Amino acid sequence: MSLRKLVLVLGDQLDGGSSAFDGFDPAQDRILMVEALGESQRVWSHKARTVIFLSAMRHFADALRGRGWPVTYHTLDDTPQGGLVELVAHHLAALRPRALVCVEPGEQWLEAALQSAAAEAGCAVELRLDTHFMLSRADFMRWARGYKQLRMEFFYRHVRKQTGILMDGDEPAGGAWNYDAENRASFGKHGPGLVPAHAGFPPDAVTREVMAAVQRYLPDNPGSLEDFDWPVTREQALAALQDFIDNRLELFGRYQDAMWAGQPFLYHARISAALNLKLLGPREVAEAAVAAWREGKAGLASVEGFVRQIIGWREFIRGVYWLEMPGMAAANHFGHARDLPGWFWTGDTHMACQRDAIGQTLRFGYAHHIQRLMVTGLFGLLAEIDPRQVAHWYLAVYVDAVEWVELPNVAGMALFANGGRFTSKPYAASGAYIQRMSNHCSACRYDPAKKTGDSACPLTTLYWHFLDRHEAELGGSPRTALMVKNLQRLPAEEREAVRVQAQMLLERLEDL
Ligand SMILES: Cc1cc2nc3c(=O)[nH]c(=O)nc-3n(C[C@H](O)[C@H](O)[C@H](O)COP(=O)(O)OP(=O)(O)OC[C@H]3O[C@@H](n4cnc5c(N)ncnc54)[C@H](O)[C@@H]3O)c2cc1C
Ligand code: SF4
Repeated sequence: MSLRKLVLVLGDQLDGGSSAFDGFDPAQDRILMVEALGESQRVWSHKARTVIFLSAMRHFADALRGRGWPVTYHTLDDTPQGGLVELVAHHLAALRPRALVCVEPGEQWLEAALQSAAAEAGCAVELRLDTHFMLSRADFMRWARGYKQLRMEFFYRHVRKQTGILMDGDEPAGGAWNYDAENRASFGKHGPGLVPAHAGFPPDAVTREVMAAVQRYLPDNPGSLEDFDWPVTREQALAALQDFIDNRLELFGRYQDAMWAGQPFLYHARISAALNLKLLGPREVAEAAVAAWREGKAGLASVEGFVRQIIGWREFIRGVYWLEMPGMAAANHFGHARDLPGWFWTGDTHMACQRDAIGQTLRFGYAHHIQRLMVTGLFGLLAEIDPRQVAHWYLAVYVDAVEWVELPNVAGMALFANGGRFTSKPYAASGAYIQRMSNHCSACRYDPAKKTGDSACPLTTLYWHFLDRHEAELGGSPRTALMVKNLQRLPAEEREAVRVQAQMLLERLEDL
């Protein structure tokens, strides 16, 4: 009997309740899952990023087989070379289904490429809605139409009203939408003390097999696998969420922006990869946090700060990706064109803050939000690095990296490459910010208070240079006018000295 539907499940669509399975009939339909080496080579992926995807896919395929459903699973060993679309085309030709079913992919290029592969194979395509998200792409477009400037805060309130999450009737639970003033402290001189250890999931036999394949086929890719303990099944993802709710949610909000050398995870949840693979859903994550507040296990400020990340930032970022693509991938508002220094791939730099953030990234495939935004991202902005090179690095090195969430965060947030379509100002800061939020500067050869001279902090010099270069634009915006006023207070000779020092730094970024 000919195959009715071939249901393609992509590596970041591992949701057992996915709309891809609506109406699935094991007697007439079949599932296809494909491991493609090309996906780890398109950007030079961290080994842990490849392992988390492939291990989670293999576990998911086993769970589908456990339902008695037929699965064609293409491993790296079946074809060690080849891109995803090429391999899907190969299976379309071999299986000759009447229709290819797939949930809308998270990457724009892939949606178009799958459509044309199916057209070439002469089969129909059914792209189904991704019900993982709180709002559909069309819902976001409708919301966005009402605004000249897109602001996350308004979107977040809209989602809360639509979903009833953290609401009491029509009012925000607890009486306020936003508790930012109570969040975002630093650890002070004494540091974080003892942070509760996170639940880890040491590699099982399936993961170890994937690790061996990755070492075999991608030996030169960056990153370590030694500490790999990410959740790769739904059960593990739920356990990771519960561990966060029980042990770290209470202090999440207060310390969400703080950094401390050698402490990669602090009070963060470590669930972004599980969410992006769709092992967890945003609603259940937000509801678990809200329940902890209602049961008196965590304070409202912290819970609101966390819910904001899940149903605010994450959903907003996905919406702007689809709204702004493909333009966002090429956007370069400031015309930056310098190369990413080689030490982004080794962590071998004298700048203690960058060394720590990049070092833990290569070790775990993880850095938290402020490290990504205000350490490595800040360097990319101030050192005038080509946004495409920066975006490739971020897509390569994090276990949670998928384009729909990575690109808007990098191009839109960290680099202001799309000229502020959804942020009100560039996230520019001097070394003083990092000094306030961490202990990095005390172990650094540079001094965050100095703009010029041998020991001047490169971020501080480049921050003043950034203001100097973009004085007219930044002076004209109410959000950055004060920074420019401070610049204008500098004596002319100091401004000139900053220009000279910045030029020297920019010409030798590899040596910093
Ligand atoms: C330059 C840059 C690049 C980033 N690239 C990615 C990426 O490729 N993939 C990714 O999932 N996140 C990305 N983020 C967002 C954020 O840094 C990570 O989601 C977070 O660090 C993951 O760790 P966690 O699970 O411990 O998060 P927590 O700090 O505990 O936050 C909880 C959850 O909120 C969500 N979240 C928080 N901030 C954001 C945000 N800005 N955008 C989307 N979701 C958010 C995540 O799902 C996260 O798991 C990026 C941020 C920046 C500034
Ligand atoms: S002095 Fe500058 S480069 Fe060094 S850790 Fe502080 S902010 Fe980073």
